[in-house]
Order: sequence, then structure tokens, then C-alpha cells
Amino acid sequence: MSIDIRLPPPESGPDQPVIKEYSDPSPMTPVQPVQLGPDDTFQFNCHKGIACFNKCCENIDIMLAPYDLLRLKKRLKISSRDFLDNFTRDFAMDGHGMPGLKLATKEESPACVFLTPEGCGVYADRPSACRYYALGLLSMRKKDSPTDEDSYFVVKEDHCLGHLEPKTQTVRDYRKEQGLEDYDAINREWRQIVLKKRSSGPTVGKPSERSMELFFLASYDLDGFREFISSSGFTDLFELDAAEKQILIENDEALLRFAFRFLKQALFGEITIPIRVDAAEKRRERYRQRVEQAERDAAERKTMDQDAQYESLKHESQDDD
Ligand code: SF4
Ligand code: SF4
Repeated sequence: MSIDIRLPPPESGPDQPVIKEYSDPSPMTPVQPVQLGPDDTFQFNCHKGIACFNKCCENIDIMLAPYDLLRLKKRLKISSRDFLDNFTRDFAMDGHGMPGLKLATKEESPACVFLTPEGCGVYADRPSACRYYALGLLSMRKKDSPTDEDSYFVVKEDHCLGHLEPKTQTVRDYRKEQGLEDYDAINREWRQIVLKKRSSGPTVGKPSERSMELFFLASYDLDGFREFISSSGFTDLFELDAAEKQILIENDEALLRFAFRFLKQALFGEITIPIRVDAAEKRRERYRQRVEQAERDAAERKTMDQDAQYESLKHESQDDD
């Protein structure tokens, strides 16, 4: 199973999609070059008795989205950090190093780390890419359009016999059956942030390392993000009333949606969380003072280096005498 988000360079032209997600149809891929809408039908069925059972999970390349991680770490009853350490691998989503995550494989094979002889070991909480298969999702944003549009493609891999099964359904029914509505309701907002960041790319310049760290924290490390919003620095800077904060501390889904609000502010400067103006000014002042102190320290070190050089020259010339 190899369905992941691919983010090619933005295309130009009045009606060109600027970003494509999931698989990119080309003669070399198993993706069928027919774009489907929600009410289009396709033939496919997957069930436990099928001869190819588990084949799709024996060689995976699956990208994870934030809600996938939330569901999986909850199921496994572990922290997001433990989930990241044990069940994911990093990759760059674009040429600017935007951090992405893929599902880990077993140590000895390219099979999914959750695959068991009986099937998926996390079935009720499997990632959205697994739910979509054998469909691929393509999210496009037309030039100058503020929103992206989803369409779908059938992914036909040789090992998958599900395409020969006599079941035809609409994309809409398939998405419902696979529980994708809940996943897309949350992940869509995140995909829009990724698309916007990606399409703004060169006009804004290379994203700073700090902004990419915040992107990682807010997207993937939910428990780390909870600690972040509980810190005194965050509380000093952002206006967040106690009742709202308590909901975020207790509810992962609310926290994840808040993380997306935070990302829009951190990455695009949108004011999605009110800032305490006086606190912001104090922070800027503290930052200015730190920079000035660092410059003074650097100048002092340079003077000391020069003194040391002259001192050693003086000694060498005395030794020569
Ligand atoms: S999470 Fe489950 S469905 Fe997805 S690749 Fe792994 S075993 Fe297969
Ligand atoms: S029918 Fe396709 S999706 Fe289902 S188990 Fe077989 S290979 Fe996997």
C-alpha cells in the first residue's frame, strides 16, 4: 500500500491546481487517471476471506496526519512522544524541509508495524490513508482560490484482488463506511495549512527552523503542545480564559483544533488567538536586550582575542632578542 501526500512545486496558469495531495496519476503509478467526485461509483470490495488478505499492508508507505496520531496514541494509551519514537519515521514533505511523518514498518520487513496474521492490529483506529485505500485523495487549490477542492482516484495495485469483487459503490458511501468523515473533518483544516504554507513557499522565503519546530509540535506532538500551552510563557503572551484552557487540557480533539489555530498565527501571522499587547512588547524588549548583550559579549571576545595575539607576538619578539 503506497498512498502518501505528495506536494509538487506550485503550477502556474489561471486554472491550474497549485497543490496535489496523495498520489499523483502518471503512467508509472497504479493510480487510475480518472478523477472521481463524491457521487461517482467504483468497483471494489475488501473482506477477510479474500485471497490477498493483508497483502496491502506487507509493503507500506503511509503518510500520517495529526488526527491519525491522536487516534493511535489514544488507542495504545501512550504519550504522543512515545508514539513518535516507536511507530513513525520522519520525512520532508517538500524542498523546504517541512516535517512529515510516515507509519513505521517492522524491523525485518517493509510490513506495517501494526500488521498481525489476523489483520490490522489497530483496525478501529487505523490511519486515514488505510481507510481510503483503494482510493486516493487529491486536494487541489486553484490559483487565487482561498479553498481547496477534493477529488478521488482509484488505486489499482497488482496484488489487490478487491477490484475484481462484484461490489460497486459511490465514493460518498465508501467514505462513510470507512469512517472517513470524522478523520477528514479534522485533518482537512491541517491539510489546508500545509497547502497554504507550501504554495506560499518562495514568495515568503525559506521557513525558519523555529517555525518548522512549532509546526511539528502542533501537528504531531499533542502532549508536548499541551505542555507548551500550559507554560507560563504562553499564558503571559496569549489571552486564553481559564475555562477554555481547561477544555484544551482535558480534550485532545479540542486541543488539536486549537493547535491548528495556533499554527495559522505562528506561520501566517493571522490573529487567531488574542495576544496581550503589553506582554508582547515586554517580550520584544527582552529579546532586544538579549541580542544587544550577545553583541557586546561577541565584541568583548574579539578584543580579548586580539589582545592575546599581540601579547603572544610581544613574547615571541622578546624570545628572539
Ligand atoms: S495500520 Fe492497519 S491497515 Fe494500515 S497499513 Fe498498518 S496494518 Fe494495514
Ligand atoms: S483486497 Fe486489496 S485492500 Fe483488501 S486485503 Fe486484499 S490487497 Fe488489501
